[in-house]
Amino acid sequence: MDIEYRDKAMETMDRAALEAHQLQALRETVRQAQKTSFYSKALAECRLEGPEELHSLADIRKLPFTSKQDLREAYPYGMLAVEKEEVVRLHASSGTTGKPTVIYLTAEDLRACTAVTSRSLIATGAGVQDVFQNMMTYGLFTGGLGLHYGAENLGMLVIPASSGNTRKQFRMMHDFQSNILHATPSYLLHAYSQMGEMGYKLSDFNLQKAYVGAEPHSEDTRRKIEELLRIDVYNSYGLSEMNGPGLAFECVYKDGMHLWEDAYIMEIIDPDTMEPLPDGEEGELVLTILHRKAMPLLRYRTRDLTRIIPEPCPCGRTHRRIARIKGRTDDMLIINGVNVFPSQIEEVIMKMPEVGTNYLIVVEKQGALDKLTVKTEVTRELLTDDTRDLYKLKQRIRENLKASISISATVELHEPDFLPVAQGKAQRVEDRRKPV
Ligand code: AMP
Ligand code: ZN
Repeated sequence: MDIEYRDKAMETMDRAALEAHQLQALRETVRQAQKTSFYSKALAECRLEGPEELHSLADIRKLPFTSKQDLREAYPYGMLAVEKEEVVRLHASSGTTGKPTVIYLTAEDLRACTAVTSRSLIATGAGVQDVFQNMMTYGLFTGGLGLHYGAENLGMLVIPASSGNTRKQFRMMHDFQSNILHATPSYLLHAYSQMGEMGYKLSDFNLQKAYVGAEPHSEDTRRKIEELLRIDVYNSYGLSEMNGPGLAFECVYKDGMHLWEDAYIMEIIDPDTMEPLPDGEEGELVLTILHRKAMPLLRYRTRDLTRIIPEPCPCGRTHRRIARIKGRTDDMLIINGVNVFPSQIEEVIMKMPEVGTNYLIVVEKQGALDKLTVKTEVTRELLTDDTRDLYKLKQRIRENLKASISISATVELHEPDFLPVAQGKAQRVEDRRKPV
């Protein structure tokens, strides 16, 4: 197979040199992190005097972990390691409640991010010949813009379609003969189910590849999309805290995602003991981003479960691969690619005095897409013959949920004592989707 690289020397660097590069970059990253109030305190608590105390990569264990909660507490600018004037972009993702988690990038950080994402795309054989329809949401979420610049950097023709409006997506696919798509796997399946109804057939298009990510999916789902759309589907992993998609990507061999180790240090830990696990064992992925000036992040707990694939890949890249994400160690739900914490929903509901204390969150499949239903009890005062108040309340809950979690939920109101009451710890979430 013909293998193309963006930066062959770096992508195929021998492990010893790559690890020396990582250690050097880690020291610089710690030095940069010390400029933030959060890390100067956290590093002092670990009794780490300075980066010169990092003698080997294993010394990363001397560094503190960082959690999503830490980022939330630092909202809006608490994690900034440069002057605000140097920042050119920010992105945000859901926090567990009200405040989102924010990342910032300098112009140089953006260039570094672009370099890494263009490597990810070329690893699938992409290049100037391709018309790339980017159907991930553009905006605060890193999904859309995350791959955009990498694709442009490779000279691909980029259509910043963003998500939604399936009819328009089909029209663009047809008119511009897009051959590479980027979307959530559930959206691709959903779009396929609408194709005939919208007057299109597969032969109207020129589809060849799709990059899918942002939500857990199985090998079977990949295969299904490949068979239905007759394309190659590549798994793409990323999270906004680490600059979004492009961080780990499958190459043409489609067997695990290369994680760019000159830009990130990965660890797999046991989420309970927080002790490191050997390569090959499944645990929580912990990431340190290297070189990011505006916002260093040390040992960030992704909460994603995976394992390192230590065997070399036939493509010649020496950067190790991670296996398909198995699930999460926290209660974050991913609904059509959007992250939602049950606590965000609770926050919306509990702010309304007309609503009782019991509620239930149900997530299920409706066709290929996810459907969110929020069931809640109302107070007795609302139970009158006049249903207008109930109707208005339902509308208000829907609107507030949409504003908070960016998802249109179905809201069901029930009389008091309708919903089941748990004997022990309340079970507020019923995820009826099949496990990955
Ligand atoms: P966000 O920060 O909004 O981009 O969400 C990042 C989260 O989405 C990750 O921590 C994962 O839980 C999930 N995610 C992203 N890409 C994938 C993927 N390819 N497979 C499974 N889950 C993914
Ligand atoms: Zn490979």
